[in-house]
Amino acid sequence: MHTALDCMEKLCRRCVVLYSGGLDSLLAVHIMLSLNFEVYPLFVKTPFYNKDEKQLEKGLSGLPVKLHTAKDDKEYLKIVKHPMFGYGKNLNPCVDCKIFFFKQAKRFMDEIGACFVVTGEVLGQRPMSQRSYSVMRAIEKRAGLSNLVLRPLSAKCLPQTDMEKEGIVDKEKLFCITGRSRKEQLELAKRFGIEDFESPAGGCLLTDASISKRVKEMLEYGYADEHELELLTLGRHFRINSKRFVVSRRKDETYLMLKKFGTVLPLLKCYNAPGAIGVFTAKPDNRDIEIAAAVLKKYSKKAELFEYSYENQVKIVQPDDLKEDELELLKI
Ligand code: SF4
Repeated sequence: MHTALDCMEKLCRRCVVLYSGGLDSLLAVHIMLSLNFEVYPLFVKTPFYNKDEKQLEKGLSGLPVKLHTAKDDKEYLKIVKHPMFGYGKNLNPCVDCKIFFFKQAKRFMDEIGACFVVTGEVLGQRPMSQRSYSVMRAIEKRAGLSNLVLRPLSAKCLPQTDMEKEGIVDKEKLFCITGRSRKEQLELAKRFGIEDFESPAGGCLLTDASISKRVKEMLEYGYADEHELELLTLGRHFRINSKRFVVSRRKDETYLMLKKFGTVLPLLKCYNAPGAIGVFTAKPDNRDIEIAAAVLKKYSKKAELFEYSYENQVKIVQPDDLKEDELELLKI
């Protein structure tokens, strides 16, 4: 097992910083660099929490670090389906999710021969995973990182970690920030010359009520592939005989969905008329296509005929009208 003592023997100065692009984790990077550590920022992606890598790198530009990423969607979806520690307000399993992040960080730490993990966590800042030190401790223990997680923003008012005990990190050079106010972080940002950083608003889709509903339904049915995950934030969603059918809502969404999925997913579009498009996340049969065309007709007032295309098959469909209550039954 990895201990700080092993690190001492190797005089290890290498650490992994869990980096999200937000101010707190950026401050953690700056603090560790100012203490002369070799810093490896790691962004852990999930199907519901993803960011543009270029943007993330922008926050780190000018610093002697290189961004790394990690993901394990299959494992993450299992967690969302059956979290050991329950959900937050929506489908966000924050405690389990943090354990997952820490496990990814541990894996990376072992891979690169780093000694410990650093986070931008602030004691008492968030309701679930950062509400108390005992929860933080339980999370790191479950990830196999007991006493090996340094939280430089709050460390001065937290019990000692192995790194502090062994003199690898000087506690006196760390901070005692607690609670939800951002005042001290903003002062620190000034001190480090940080001007650009993301607003604290999360970016996790699982905290959104309507997307959580779609995710829940998707996990109950089993999901087709990563396209289905990508579609969660787009369009109106329907379940047609066990297949998900997604209809675009506006012109820009029609364009986007056509560009992204038009050649890879079964597609329905208006024939010789303007209107919405729809995509299936799994191959439909003829009856599914007829129902889907009737759904699409509801959102494409000028169209009577619809063109279905997928792989080598192309066909024109003339659907019956769908009643409002029938449409409601298909909606997710
Ligand atoms: S808000 Fe989302 S990404 Fe953040 S800990 Fe909770 S589930 Fe994970």
